[in-house]
Amino acid sequence: DPRARHEFQNLLSPEEAEKQLDGLAGPTVELPDATFVDLFQERARGCPDAIAVEHGTVRWTYRELERRVNRIAHALIEAGVGTEDVVAVVMDRTPEWIAAALGVFTAGGVYLPVRPDFPVERVVAQLERSACAVALTEPGSEALVRAVSARLAAPLTRLSVTRVLARGGHTEPPSVSVTPGQAAYIYFTSGSTGSPKGALCEHAGFLNHLYAKIEDTGITAGGGDVVTQIASQCFDISLWQFAAPLLMGGSVRIMDTRTQLDVGAFVEEIVEGRVTVMQVVPSYLEVLLTHLEQHPRPLGALRSVSVTGEALTYELVQRWFAACPDVQLVNAYGATETSDDPMHEVLHGVPERDFVTVGRALRNVHTYVLDENLALVPLGTPGEIAFSGVCVGRGYINDEERTREAFVPDPFRPGTRMYRTGDFGRWLPEDRLEFLGRRDAQVKIRGFRIEIGEIENKLLTMEGVREAAVVTEGDTSEQRVLVAFFSGSREVTAEGVRDFLATVLPDYMVPTHIHRVDRLPLTENGKIDKKALARPAAETA
Ligand code: ADP
Repeated sequence: DPRARHEFQNLLSPEEAEKQLDGLAGPTVELPDATFVDLFQERARGCPDAIAVEHGTVRWTYRELERRVNRIAHALIEAGVGTEDVVAVVMDRTPEWIAAALGVFTAGGVYLPVRPDFPVERVVAQLERSACAVALTEPGSEALVRAVSARLAAPLTRLSVTRVLARGGHTEPPSVSVTPGQAAYIYFTSGSTGSPKGALCEHAGFLNHLYAKIEDTGITAGGGDVVTQIASQCFDISLWQFAAPLLMGGSVRIMDTRTQLDVGAFVEEIVEGRVTVMQVVPSYLEVLLTHLEQHPRPLGALRSVSVTGEALTYELVQRWFAACPDVQLVNAYGATETSDDPMHEVLHGVPERDFVTVGRALRNVHTYVLDENLALVPLGTPGEIAFSGVCVGRGYINDEERTREAFVPDPFRPGTRMYRTGDFGRWLPEDRLEFLGRRDAQVKIRGFRIEIGEIENKLLTMEGVREAAVVTEGDTSEQRVLVAFFSGSREVTAEGVRDFLATVLPDYMVPTHIHRVDRLPLTENGKIDKKALARPAAETA
């Protein structure tokens, strides 16, 4: 109701409204009339012999990377890829994967990362939804892509990156112009109705975020910085981890998942690899700190650690500065739909307040705290966090309905889009934003964003399952696990449910514990009583 909105807005003095709309916005910084593609090419010409990518014992210089990028871009163009055509990159995290992602950008296409260990059904759904007609593969993903291709109604062109690179030829950039308003990438995030949503972001938002990360983590031009690439390729935070150093002449060092699972080896790699900047999720920071507290050692060249994806606790910040007083922490907050992180809190020590904020809006970003009528709430009052500005993505690909719910016209800046995060927050007197949790059943497990409803809906599609409910257990982000409860016909076992879920969901969405019950507990008004389920699972196990 627009009238109610105006009445509430009238509660704010003109000064307060102005402060919220302008004073709390990020600084306006003009973006170059260019994209990551031009700027990377320029950098590669400027420092051709500098190391661009490191992985184990492999080293590629900027010249070597750029040539591969151009070859892949030419092959894509020959395969018919034009402006904003979606290209699935079904590859593990290797130097070739980075060349493939950059190749897609350079050809003017839209990068869609797919993990080679994803279930066929999920990949089919993602490619269909994004009308993707071309996939880049590696030997380890060819079987998956063949299986996916056989199930797609439309033809899928499969290009082996290994073969494209072995073929030689073209090393000059193609004559394609990529513009800031063009779509750059899609990351699928969990969707509560059972099907994932493909968040589509544009080059301008991508570049804006890279510059903000470069500034706040202190990556300098002309090399010297080594940024670790740690995150899974289907998580949008993986993007800046390689794109930011490559914009500045630094190098990206890919850290294998195997190394990450062995925290001692992780620390060794940070020190030996002369890593200056890294990013982890809070649950991994906790693992790392526990190790460092038992085996204290200096972390070599490490200067900046970004933490993202979930709330960072004050306790972890205290422990961090006790262990590594000289290494800054950046609490980065945002959503895939807002080109990764529109807000940062940069910490050089333990904050005075006994909790951690998500800081301030980054360059060219507006942060609003709103009531349900999308009116500003008074400073200090909790409300829904929304973003406007260049960071806001274009929407969910080929999904008007869900796009309309979350991407709405900005009521304060006519003609621009605003993204409603579904997160609650409030402004603090020191002009920083406090994160207060979710409006819905979205959870984070080791940084992965998961809609509980997606798992429940998948469970209900299994033959013989009658009722299903999923809850989380564990207080800290490190301990948090998914627990599923179901009822149904006798033949359906917990093991059977686990096997079924593993064929339709990525591993991080398969519940750790699965319990069969005769009937799910209900509340007085007949809804599944999740609070009763969340009580000691042992009662029903
Ligand atoms: P990202 O890739 O930036 O982590 P996702 O799309 O995976 O974004 O998840 C976005 C959601 O994760 C946010 O809406 C919020 O609920 C949560 N989140 C992300 N970063 C933080 C943070 N620093 N503190 C608290 N919650 C966070």
